[in-house]
Amino acid sequence: MQVKILGSAAGGGFPQWNCACANCAAVRSGQFNGKPRSQTQVTVSSDDRSWFLLGASPDLRYQIESSPELHPTSGTRHSPISGVVLASADLDHVLGLLLLRELQPFQVWAAKPVINILREQNTMFGMLNRVADQVRWNPIRAAEQFSMRSLNAADASIDCQAVALSSRYPAYVAGMPESAEATLGLILTSKSGAKLGFFPQLPKLTPELKSLFATLDCLLLDGTFWSDDELIRLQGSGKRAREMGHIPVGGEDGTLRQLAGLTKSRKMYIHINNTNPMLNEASAEYREVRDNGWELAEDGCHFNL
Ligand SMILES: [Zn+2]
Repeated sequence: MQVKILGSAAGGGFPQWNCACANCAAVRSGQFNGKPRSQTQVTVSSDDRSWFLLGASPDLRYQIESSPELHPTSGTRHSPISGVVLASADLDHVLGLLLLRELQPFQVWAAKPVINILREQNTMFGMLNRVADQVRWNPIRAAEQFSMRSLNAADASIDCQAVALSSRYPAYVAGMPESAEATLGLILTSKSGAKLGFFPQLPKLTPELKSLFATLDCLLLDGTFWSDDELIRLQGSGKRAREMGHIPVGGEDGTLRQLAGLTKSRKMYIHINNTNPMLNEASAEYREVRDNGWELAEDGCHFNL
């Protein structure tokens, strides 16, 4: 299975349009010891013909154009993008769907409440179903295996399983009945049996999740914030990382310490907020991440699993 990381920043990207934090300011002035990043986007393929998107970021148009694998190859209208699997209804995870509205058929896999939020509560997403057979929406359930495959079913599929993480919906959602499947993690299995974990949002780390992570060959994990009060210290107000559903990377109870026993998998932090000090490759935080065997996901990074 080919895995390509097209974007690795949290919502807002790096730099973020209205942010003048030390990281964003340094990137703009060309003085930063690290890389700018677009909003988190991963794509996978098991045959190099059919590609599946993990989420659909607001930067998707640019991310597609910078990836030759995702360009049309036959006829006037064509796309190797066969489908999208959604882990939540977060704006930075679903807005890109609206950029795919040009009547190109594809499939979406998502939990039922997420499909309802997009299709019933946000009429704009009706642009994806203006004609019959435009977008096919497939409800998925946590702990049930499903296959991502192209509509023509001629190309190779990828097995996927969702893991229920949280009943928390994005702030724009109102009046939805609570669901344990509001936020999911995704486990993808390649033909060779190798497993990729996609967890850009990790609200809590249970013993079950730790055991699950130990079975993975590669884990893409929530690297949004370094510390719980990162935004509060920067802005003087705001929410804590954990209140926003993100366990911080650093500190006594951060994921770096909590997952110190995870030694067999390739471990990469993704969905990194522009304020996170580990983005600076000259920082002590970056050194700590690397010394513990973790990598920072970067735009354009690709590997085989
Ligand atoms: Zn910033």
